[in-house]
Amino acid sequence: MSQERRYSFEFFPAKTEAGHAKLLATAHQLASYQPDFFSCTYGAGGSTRDRTVNTVLQLDSETKVQTAPHISCIGDSKADLRVLLSHYKQAGITRIVALRGDLPSGMGMSSGELRYANDLVGFIREETGSHFHIEVAAYPEMHPQARNFEDDLANFVRKAKAGANSAITQYFFNADSYFYFVERVRKMGVDIPVVPGIMPITNYSKLARFSDACGAEIPRWVRKQLEAYGDDIESIQSYGEQVVSEMCERLLQGGAPGLHFYTLNQAEPSLAIWNNLKLPR
Ligand code: FAD
Repeated sequence: MSQERRYSFEFFPAKTEAGHAKLLATAHQLASYQPDFFSCTYGAGGSTRDRTVNTVLQLDSETKVQTAPHISCIGDSKADLRVLLSHYKQAGITRIVALRGDLPSGMGMSSGELRYANDLVGFIREETGSHFHIEVAAYPEMHPQARNFEDDLANFVRKAKAGANSAITQYFFNADSYFYFVERVRKMGVDIPVVPGIMPITNYSKLARFSDACGAEIPRWVRKQLEAYGDDIESIQSYGEQVVSEMCERLLQGGAPGLHFYTLNQAEPSLAIWNNLKLPR
């Protein structure tokens, strides 16, 4: 495993021209911090296919920061995925984040020919050999649909064995859950880097809704303090920045191989943490 730490920023493809302009401005600002890569999400079932492809290629060429598309298998056929992979390969993209994805409600979970992310990783390897550096998702607090924690660990191991090079975690606010997850997968013989995914806290109600859906726990002491701030956005952000920065410091001190920021297309919340940590520029 490489001892070098890596830092990355994640975006989502914007729906409007104004949103896209904001995303570009954010990416250019973050590019000056020389991250190792950017990544851009993908709507499962191909709902953002064109926007993801266009955003990835534009960020990659304009910011000079290597940009990794997310790609998901649920709801996409092998033929669709083959076209997408070949397009990225020809465009010089060399890193990819491979996921199962979540279909919008109403679409059956079994649609698509590849059912789980480990199938997708295997498919990418079959189709493109070692061309792509493949990232997969990791869940220190367990994926919400997993039968139990042990099954979810076994799934992570399957993804690594299928050919993933490294992993990015779902966000969490409890460093111990990360350390425990890494310790467990190491004991299971997996040595790929597992990079913590970091969610800056900017809006409590949105964060609470999203965390419920994706199974990330906001510790009670953090939740109660955030609730106490009510509509005082400034206090929420400043407290959130302090809590997340302190957690990141612990993660890095404890050996985390880098950080991946969920930017939600905003530069300032991630940069505030970056600067608090005095990360390299
Ligand atoms: P998998 O690893 O396939 O796991 C999904 C579930 O199935 C888990 O509960 C697992 O334990 C279980 N499982 C796996 N194999 C089996 C098996 N053989 N039998 C029974 N159960 C099994 N979503 C998007 O739609 N677009 C994105 O761009 C996107 N980006 C993300 C980036 C990161 C870093 C992370 C952490 C998540 C992202 N997601 C994205 C969300 C992700 O798609 C969802 O969490 C999804 O529900 C699971 O995807 P996965 O790749 O982890 O799936």
